[in-house]
Amino acid sequence: MNRYDVIVIGGGPAGAGASIELSSDAKVLILEKAKYPRQKLCAGCISKRSVDSFPAFNIKNSISGGILGYKGQKFVEKTSDECAVIVDREEFDYELIKKAQEHGANLLEETKVKHIEKTPTIYKVFTDKDMFEADYVIGADGYHSVARESLCKKPSRKFFISMEVKIPKDHLKDFPEDKVLIDIGVVKRGYGWYFPQGEFVNIGIATAEREDLLEIFKNYTKSHKRFNIDITKYKIRSWFIPFTKSRDELTLGKERLLLCGDASDLVDPLLGEGIRYAYLSGSLAGRAIKLAKKDALSLYKRFISNTMLKDIIYAGKIASIVYNIQELAFEFSQDQALIMFFELLKGNKTYEELYKWGWKEFIKNIPNALKFYLKI
Ligand SMILES: Cc1cc2nc3c(=O)[nH]c(=O)nc-3n(C[C@H](O)[C@H](O)[C@H](O)COP(=O)(O)OP(=O)(O)OC[C@H]3O[C@@H](n4cnc5c(N)ncnc54)[C@H](O)[C@@H]3O)c2cc1C
Repeated sequence: MNRYDVIVIGGGPAGAGASIELSSDAKVLILEKAKYPRQKLCAGCISKRSVDSFPAFNIKNSISGGILGYKGQKFVEKTSDECAVIVDREEFDYELIKKAQEHGANLLEETKVKHIEKTPTIYKVFTDKDMFEADYVIGADGYHSVARESLCKKPSRKFFISMEVKIPKDHLKDFPEDKVLIDIGVVKRGYGWYFPQGEFVNIGIATAEREDLLEIFKNYTKSHKRFNIDITKYKIRSWFIPFTKSRDELTLGKERLLLCGDASDLVDPLLGEGIRYAYLSGSLAGRAIKLAKKDALSLYKRFISNTMLKDIIYAGKIASIVYNIQELAFEFSQDQALIMFFELLKGNKTYEELYKWGWKEFIKNIPNALKFYLKI
């Protein structure tokens, strides 16, 4: 039988979140083009505030502090209690999808969705193997979402282009396994990073501007004061991280097709944190379908507004400021800014509070900022 209540396209965190939420109440089919365990380009950092939202998972590194850098040359380092954890996405996503199956979801791997058609009563989902029908479709198929393309095209999107290398940890000397490093000033809108990841380290870069990223990445890593490596010896991989900064830019679906995770651009526009928003938006899409008598999409939009939207909008406001004054941001908000970020990651502060705090700090520091710019 090819008929389901809900078809979930894509089995990343968003698809797993939706399926876990729905599968005990509905007949759910997950269509996934890859075979698990499958690779996913990602630094695997999950903020502490989100850890409890997921079913139990294996942690590679516990993060208790961070290093803020400027252009890989100047650094400030701070320790905190645990503020984030690092996972291996291959393992993490596999465990989540197994949980969805335990809840009753049907999974078809190595099945790529080609396009979707809507009839007055059902959706027809065409794959490279077969055609499936459902009352609802959840598009959880990442940045290049076929679900989004098929039914609710939107011409322009905001996105970071990112590059990363995964390096055996013994190729780097003296690097902490309990801290992440974020370097600003490296690209116009974005940052470079070092994230420990079990036996590896993940070094990467992301920018929302169209720059010659490969060249910048090579120079940044080679001239970096702390790791100083030739990344061309490793496999450099690249992918997109979509994001949104306002309610108007959001694409959450159309009629009985609901989009979540990267397919809907629900990613933090400052840090590029997407795992938590993907899993949460997937769960909310599932809950909306479960609870709505008629209009699941409206309920889903309400859920998104009431939970993560404010956070994302304020993260976008901070990004717009910080990425325009990167050197100043580094010089004047180092220690306190890091502490505030740890509090955000732990769930003790919101982005709105950080934004308001940042303005107060900025006003206090205007005289120093003027001296800094006038070099007096
Ligand atoms: C370099 C990099 C580093 C990152 N680091 C972090 C980080 O440290 N922390 C963090 O929180 N976020 C990070 N992110 C973002 C995070 O990876 C994403 O936001 C998150 O994976 C989104 O989850 P998702 O389920 O929406 O999509 P995905 O994880 O992309 O899953 C989509 C799934 O859909 C499947 N699929 C796609 N098309 C089809 C199709 N046509 N038919 C069937 N299946 C299909 C794919 O195979 C995949 O399994 C990073 C991203 C990048 C690129």
